Amino acid sequence: MCFTIVSYTDWWCGYRQHTGRHKVDCNKWGCRLSDAHGDREDVHDCQAQCTGSTLEDQHIIMERRHDVCGECREAGRGRREHPSASTNGANGANGHIKYRHLAIPGERLDDFDP
Ligand SMILES: [Zn+2]
Ligand SMILES: [Zn+2]
Ligand SMILES: [Zn+2]
Repeated sequence: MCFTIVSYTDWWCGYRQHTGRHKVDCNKWGCRLSDAHGDREDVHDCQAQCTGSTLEDQHIIMERRHDVCGECREAGRGRREHPSASTNGANGANGHIKYRHLAIPGERLDDFDP
């Protein structure tokens, strides 16, 4: 099943920066969301055979920076001091979104509490 990766970078100041969207195509003809689906439209029973209706977003934090974002650096803010970082989440994201963290080999996270 196809999905969209929505990627983020977490900054030390608490800013969750939206860095991009990328569609991952499963390339199955039985998936309505796949690019591989279209040309079989006439030879199959789409209603019965195919799956996929809405493209699901997977929110993945690709990177954690042990540094404040540019905006905070200019303003002289430090760790967890990004405006509204703790209340709203960043970029207007709300608490219903499930974020997943990408493990980075060798990354030190001792001083980081998400
Ligand atoms: Zn698919
Ligand atoms: Zn179909
Ligand atoms: Zn910041």
